[in-house]
Amino acid sequence: MKKHNFSAGPCILPQEVFQQASEAVLDFNGTGLSILEISHRSKEFVAVMKEARALALDLLGLSGKGYHAVFLQGGASMEFLRVPYNLMTVNGKAAYLDTGTWASGAIKEAKAFGDTVVVASSKPENYNHIPKSFEIPTDADYFHCTSNNTIYGTQMRQFPETNVPLVCDMSSDIFSRTLDFSKFDLIYAGAQKNMGPAGTTLVVIKEGLLNKTGRSIPNILNYQQHIDKESMYNTPPVFAVYTSLLTLKWLQNLGGIPAIEKVNEAKAALLYNEIDRNPLFKGTAATEDRSKMNATFLLENEAHAALFDNLWKNAGISGLNGHRSVGGYRASMYNALPLESVQVLVDAMKELERIA
Ligand SMILES: *Cc1c(COP(=O)(O)O)cnc(C)c1O
Repeated sequence: MKKHNFSAGPCILPQEVFQQASEAVLDFNGTGLSILEISHRSKEFVAVMKEARALALDLLGLSGKGYHAVFLQGGASMEFLRVPYNLMTVNGKAAYLDTGTWASGAIKEAKAFGDTVVVASSKPENYNHIPKSFEIPTDADYFHCTSNNTIYGTQMRQFPETNVPLVCDMSSDIFSRTLDFSKFDLIYAGAQKNMGPAGTTLVVIKEGLLNKTGRSIPNILNYQQHIDKESMYNTPPVFAVYTSLLTLKWLQNLGGIPAIEKVNEAKAALLYNEIDRNPLFKGTAATEDRSKMNATFLLENEAHAALFDNLWKNAGISGLNGHRSVGGYRASMYNALPLESVQVLVDAMKELERIA
């Protein structure tokens, strides 16, 4: 039986995408070849790459607005390195907001390149909120933030108004909510949270941002190379890009980001209402910063853990354990997770209240 998959990543994708991807493994669009064996230089795959890049920009409302989209490898973690390599000037400065494990991973990489100013951090409170008052040095080469903190269940509602280029790790909430994406100069997102299988990372880069560092950048790490080579500098992860395209098309057919945002809001409201109503549970993130993608919560009484774990596992739920660094529970409600799955979880929480 198909599980209700609340896993944080890799995670649920639309069922029809699984179906279409599996058909392409056997015969890709009637070519007589599997998507796993087709040349990345074939006209069929070149068309896939082109369409995926264009559709990603289109869904973000960035078509024709001077942005490039590329599909790279190395995960979001590789962008922690590529961003300072490509954007921090020699003897320059970068500003970072520290909102969690991924943000601090990005900070660590930047430190190898130059003056890395952490404008604010919620680490002393175990990252349970998003710092709101901070100043971005006006002479920074860029400001980096993490829009959704997958592990701690917090999400940025507001982004700072600043004169310096805005860089954002949107790995776990891209394509989930409407934003003015044209405020950002560089956006990156590992596919495996909301877009496709692990193995590729979408990077969206505004024209005019690059080639200002005075640094010599190895080709594989150089965004300009990947843009110039149309995301084919080296063999791209063909299957991951194709499956991402299928997911983006699924989203487009639903009505794009505005349509999925409504569903995501309904799912988050359903679960957070239960966390707040049910006396056996409590949320861990500051209410105003709660993530609509990853809801983190605890049992008031740890003694109920075995009983609750039994209830949700028997209900066909998978992937509800919190990140190993924080414990408790985390319900990841990415785009492809249906509202019905959240209802199944809420019913299990209510059942615990009834029998505990
Ligand atoms: C999962 C995640 C990452 C790490 O992604 P990898 O592809 O494993 O490198 C980075 N940032 C955020 C916000 C994430 O959710």
